[in-house]
Amino acid sequence: VRDGLTDLFNRRHLGDVLPGMLALARRNNWALAVAIIDLDRFKLVNDEHGHLVGDTVLKSFAALLLAQLRKSDVVCRYGGEEFCVLMPRTTTTQGRRKIDGLLKEWRAVRLYADGKVLGQQTFSAGVAESLAAGGGDESADALLKRADDCALLAKKAGRNCVLAENQELTAGQPAP
Ligand code: GH3
Ligand code: MG
Ligand code: MG
Repeated sequence: VRDGLTDLFNRRHLGDVLPGMLALARRNNWALAVAIIDLDRFKLVNDEHGHLVGDTVLKSFAALLLAQLRKSDVVCRYGGEEFCVLMPRTTTTQGRRKIDGLLKEWRAVRLYADGKVLGQQTFSAGVAESLAAGGGDESADALLKRADDCALLAKKAGRNCVLAENQELTAGQPAP
């Protein structure tokens, strides 16, 4: 259920709970927002400071997610430096605002390696919402894919930004 490094929920748990959450949202005509977050240039952290520092950065990011998101949100480590957040009763716009806020916080976090401050960390994220599919029988995987496609576009747009489906890019700022 939990990822060993960050203690967040793991991908298997995400796969277990998302269909039920989606069904509940549909039944009540609520929006369920899904965000995929991918840390930017994370390989550089490993390459420059070593994997142990990389691990510390992942744990710091997980701690920020848990501190900022609701208890009712489901926060998962999706892959190596990729995270997925399920936000019940949340629209794309509301979810995007939340992730924009997280990006601002993440950019402001001071991380240290061997007593030295690490460079500013950023991420790229995509946000999609269940209701956008028209309340039909879209699968959990299809919803995840829409969020993931947005995250990919956010990367292609230059990183350090959030892209919500059918909306403008937000929070993009040139990284120093
Ligand atoms: P991009 O901005 O395009 O996302 O670049 P990136 O470097 O973040 O992406 P890439 O996929 O090239 O590299 C991801 C890196 O994440 C490579 C891998 O070594 C690292 N990684 C994955 N899991 C872990 C982990 O558990 N610990 C550490 N330290 N690194 C990890
Ligand atoms: Mg990645
Ligand atoms: Mg990455």
